[in-house]
Amino acid sequence: HPVEHFVIPPHYSKDLDRVLVSHGLIRDRVEKLAHLIAKDSSKPLVACCVLKGAHVFFAQLMENLKKLKNAEGKSIPLSFEFIKAKSYENDKSSGQIKLSLSEEDLKSFKGKDLLIVEDIVDTGRTMVALVERLKQYEPASVRVVSLLLKKTDRSNRYVPDYVGFAIPDLFVVGYCLDYNEYFRDLDHIAVISEHGKKAYAV
Ligand code: 5GP
Ligand code: MG
Ligand code: MG
Repeated sequence: HPVEHFVIPPHYSKDLDRVLVSHGLIRDRVEKLAHLIAKDSSKPLVACCVLKGAHVFFAQLMENLKKLKNAEGKSIPLSFEFIKAKSYENDKSSGQIKLSLSEEDLKSFKGKDLLIVEDIVDTGRTMVALVERLKQYEPASVRVVSLLLKKTDRSNRYVPDYVGFAIPDLFVVGYCLDYNEYFRDLDHIAVISEHGKKAYAV
């Protein structure tokens, strides 16, 4: 969608090519994802937010989830954890995945239903590594919800349990997804322009 159709922070006016997913559409899809997750849940859920990119998605998903009931008509007790995973520099995966996890919090995963909340799955390497790591702490189950799934030939074929939107192989920003820490303050998911890439390159 043309950028002119949306409210964009003026400091980014030259930095975007187009809006891929508007904030309104994201909100509607997040509500639906919450319904799907609730229906599949039978126990208290430990929702694990992958920082920083998934933070807004996580907050909106939990806002929806706490109002919903599972298939047996029961509300779902939720607890929250936050994990940092970083693999990108500029718009390229560094190939190195940095995770920051506290042992104490990780031990609390034992026997629980885990829901990992991620912003975007690209090659799938981060998620495979993270799921592998978290399984060592013996949760009863692990499910992954990602707002975005990139269709790319660099994929390792990992597919999350729940996906908001499948998107083309483009670098996207907004709704808390960043380019070198910029664009998190944009409500829509958008494609960065050449001007934007140059302006915020490190
Ligand atoms: P993967 O390991 O699947 O290649 O990459 C996963 C992580 O890379 C995502 O969680 C996200 O932090 C970052 N990433 C991948 N593609 C994009 C993108 O198009 N835009 C932004 N902002 N981050 C991305
Ligand atoms: Mg991420
Ligand atoms: Mg990032």
